Parts: sequence; structure tokens; C-alpha cells
Amino acid sequence: MQKLVAIKGMNDILPPDSARWEWLEDKVRTLMARYAYRNIRTPIVEPTPLFVRGLGEVTDIVEKEMYSFEDRLNGEQLTLRPEATAGVVRAVVEHSMLYDGGKRLYYMGPMFRHERPQRGRYRQFHQIGAEALGFPGAEADAEIILLAHALWAELGLENVRLELNSLGQPDERRAHRAALIAYLEQHMDVLDEDARRRLHSNPLRILDTKNPAMQALVEGAPRLIDFLGEASLQHFETVKAILDANGVAWSLNPRLVRGMDYYNLTVFEFVTDQLGSQGTICGGGRYDYLIEQIGGKSAPAVGWALGVERVLELLKEQETQVARPAADAYAVVPDASALPVVMATLQRLRAQGVSVQMHSPTAAGEGMGSMKSQFKKADASGARYALVFGADELARGAVTVKPLRDSGEQAERPLAALAEWAATLQSSR
Ligand code: ATP
Ligand code: MG
Repeated sequence: MQKLVAIKGMNDILPPDSARWEWLEDKVRTLMARYAYRNIRTPIVEPTPLFVRGLGEVTDIVEKEMYSFEDRLNGEQLTLRPEATAGVVRAVVEHSMLYDGGKRLYYMGPMFRHERPQRGRYRQFHQIGAEALGFPGAEADAEIILLAHALWAELGLENVRLELNSLGQPDERRAHRAALIAYLEQHMDVLDEDARRRLHSNPLRILDTKNPAMQALVEGAPRLIDFLGEASLQHFETVKAILDANGVAWSLNPRLVRGMDYYNLTVFEFVTDQLGSQGTICGGGRYDYLIEQIGGKSAPAVGWALGVERVLELLKEQETQVARPAADAYAVVPDASALPVVMATLQRLRAQGVSVQMHSPTAAGEGMGSMKSQFKKADASGARYALVFGADELARGAVTVKPLRDSGEQAERPLAALAEWAATLQSSR
């Protein structure tokens, strides 16, 4: 039969690699708790209009990257989420979560975008994101940036740069937009097809181009930051002052506009030079108009999302060591007749928090296999101890505990005293 394979750009995450994912997720959970961010889980499929309205019609994601389809049963237009902020906001509005004040939330999960697969760019990829909703002040922007910055430190990541910009408010954007269109109109010959199409619908988006032929043009474009009024500038100054007070280095990137339309005021990206052209590991900003756009009562918000694959790739690039999980013990069972006693013993150990890998033959009818082959498997498993359930020991109501990693002699222990052994094991882990 023909082999079935995964969809291009959608990856299986297998052991031992999946251990790196779990390690990262554990670090994130611990850190989020320290900043009092709570977990939120929203559906992977959402109504298509949520993203069209939320992200903006004239964006890369909505124009060409969404996996959209019609529900065969009721004809509803659905989309696999390309990002999670719109869904989080929908949930926050739907459940009136801001009725008693602001909320700090975080999520982890798969996102879907129909892009050209390459290193650091997949069609199913994973994001971890943080959102602070209901807080208008610059300290919320700063807090969420500090949170991301702390995560890099927690992970041991180096050489991650922070780029900042301010997109101001809609009225300031309008003044800039007119100047930007006038400028771009003078360089029609340099504009690519996307840019020409967006010139009047969404010129700001042109500044987010990845086309190298347009970089010089973009560099020379009027800067949005020069169109900001007093209040917007003050907000930006406060964010920068808090970052400075925390020793977080940043640089201004006046061309930073981000891929969605929902941002205003502070926008930021964490960037590295170690991942080639997919160097942005995290991006975010303030989105004070999205909640209203999605049908809620107007409320401010700020957030970011990081690309898990890119962060893990960078960790690999920097040769960060992630402990490989191995069981505490591996059960060596010379004779299958001992299995009932063995497995009852292992259950007791596991209930005590000891991790035990059972020896199981992989071919039918072959018995448990030789001691030699079982010890080989025990060694390869990385377990610290082998528990040898030999017939002689079992007849004495005991088991042999043999260290596989640590120095020390093997010793026989009564089954009834394994609980004490398990306790010493945990204190030495
Ligand atoms: P890029 O400019 O690289 O396309 P983006 O601006 O579209 O990124 P966001 O929508 O801001 O990305 O998503 C936040 C993060 O998610 C990105 O900084 C990146 O690390 C990651 N990311 C985005 N798209 C992909 C993808 N197709 N594959 C893997 N990671 C991705
Ligand atoms: Mg993109």
C-alpha cells in the first residue's frame, strides 16, 4: 500500500526532541506563574470573519496564508487559527472576562499559515503568547516585554536583540499615511505587485515587506514616529524608561510595523542574527482597538507571541544542554513467571513517584530475552538503576538493586523495604 505521509510544512515532534519542547513549556509555565499570568485555551478552529476583522483584510495572513474551509454541514466559513490573539480576545469578550478588571493570560499551541516551508517557517508551527488585557498604562507594555526578556534569561538564550517602535494612534497614522503614499507614489517603479496593490488600501503594510529590492525604498520612507503627538511620545518614553531601569537594552526600529493591523502605540520584536532570514523569535505590541473591533466594550491590551520552533532552533544553535529524561529504574525480569509480582512492585514504586521502565520483549513468543540483552537495554535507557527480579532473590522476597550510572555496589533489598530505597532515591535526584 502507498505510504501515508504528513502534510508538507507540518512536522511530527518525536522523542528525544519532544523532551526539549517539554523542557521549554515547563520553564514557561513557571515563569508565567511568577508574573501572575494565567493559562487560557481556545479552539484551534474559529469563524473566518474573526481573523478577517481582527487581523485586517489587507495583511499577508488574511490575503494568502489562512487555511480556510467551509463546514460541510452548515456552510459556515471556518479557519485554522493563524495566530491566537484574535481568539483570546473573542473568548475574553464572549465570557465578559474584563468585568472585574484586567486579565493577564498566556497560551501555547499550534498555529497554521500557508507559507513556503523553509528553516524556521512551517505551515503548522507553535506559538507561546502572553496577553495583558484591560491595562492602558505603559507599565503593562514594559511588564510584558520584561516577561519575554526574563524568559530568554531563564532559557539561557544569548544574543537576542530587542527592537522597539511606536505606531501611535489612528489619527497620527492618518497624517503619516498621506505622507507615505505621496512618497511611495514617487517610486512606483520600485514597488512590487503586493506594494502597488496595497498603496492605497494599506500603505503601512508595505513597510513590512520582505522583498530585498524594496529595502532601500522602505529605509527612506517617512517615519511614523515623527508624526506622533505628545501623549503617544510620553507613553513610549515611559516604556523605554522602565526598560532602561531594568537594564534591558533596546534599539529603535522606525520601520517596525508588524504583520497585523490591530497594533497601536508600542510594537516590538526580539531578533537574533543566528537563524538566518527567520531571525524574529518573538513579536508583539499594544492593541487597544481590537477588543472593540471584535464586538466587545472598548478596552486596551498588549501582548506578544513567540515562535517555539525558532526559539528551540536558537537553543540548539547555542548548544544549550537540555536534560534528557530517563527513568529512575529499569526492571530486569529473567523469567516471565515473575511478572505478576514484578508489576505489582513497580506499581507501588510508581505510586511513590519513582519512574520505572518495564522490560518488555518486542517480538511475540520469544520470552523475556537473555539477562545480557536486558542489561544492554537497561543501560541504553539511561536509567540510574536496574532492578533485577531474579528467581533466587524473589524466593527470598527480595530484589537486586544495581547502580547503572552512579558508583556503588549492587545490593539485595527486601521487597518490603523498597519504599525506603525509593525515598533515598528521591532525595538524591
Ligand atoms: P515573519 O515576519 O517571520 O513572517 P510574523 O510577523 O508573520 O513573522 P507573528 O505573526 O508576529 O510573525 O508571529 C510571532 C512569531 O511566530 C514570529 O516572530 C515567529 O517567531 C513565529 N512564526 C510566525 N510565522 C511562523 C511560521 N510560519 N513558522 C514558524 N514560526 C513562525
Ligand atoms: Mg509572517
